[in-house]
Amino acid sequence: MAFKEFNCPSCGALLKLEYRFTETVICPFCQQSSHWTGENFEAKGEKVILADYGSKFSVGLQASFWGTKLGERKEYKFKVLGRVRFEYNDGFWDEWLLRVEGYEQNEYWLQEDEGEFFLFKKFDNLPSVNEYSELEVGMYVDWEDYKMFISEKAKAQISGGEGELPFRVIPGEQCDFVDGILLKEAIPVSIEYLPDNKKAFYVTIFNLDINDFVFTEKKQENVY
Ligand SMILES: [Zn+2]
Repeated sequence: MAFKEFNCPSCGALLKLEYRFTETVICPFCQQSSHWTGENFEAKGEKVILADYGSKFSVGLQASFWGTKLGERKEYKFKVLGRVRFEYNDGFWDEWLLRVEGYEQNEYWLQEDEGEFFLFKKFDNLPSVNEYSELEVGMYVDWEDYKMFISEKAKAQISGGEGELPFRVIPGEQCDFVDGILLKEAIPVSIEYLPDNKKAFYVTIFNLDINDFVFTEKKQENVY
């Protein structure tokens, strides 16, 4: 079900958006990125094709996973709406934007790391987190009700994206991150320092492995 439609400013293809918070759309036909200006989508930046590495996931995929929350194991259906690739010194990693059935208002990201899958939820009430330069590994920080231990920090760049994404994706743009553990609950959290001086705070909701996923439906064509 499309929430909004527009024609790609570069090739004219009709693009259908499914996510109301989309700020970047990468055309599946010509790879042009378009950014939401507040009124319409404008072509911005170079065209980048992401090299594939044989992931089970792809934009448009509809599948489900079994996750345990508060002791209850339940099947969650989802659709992959977009992917963003980050580069850092040691290589790259991808994050997949998911729309989870029944939780359409939330922003979920799936990250794959050496066979483990982390499902993050973007935290809407962002605590007033520090700037990247103020945080050091090993530090404890207090943000209002949150106490976090900083376990990792690294400089990264956006190498490109695919599909719909809820922030401005500009290849080559700096996008540093700080990872840590939320104390008391021992929940892994991550802060991303996005383009436009935006910060996003993500909380791990599920820690999954590939056997928790159910891939049944065929990949849809480029309707995303
Ligand atoms: Zn296009």
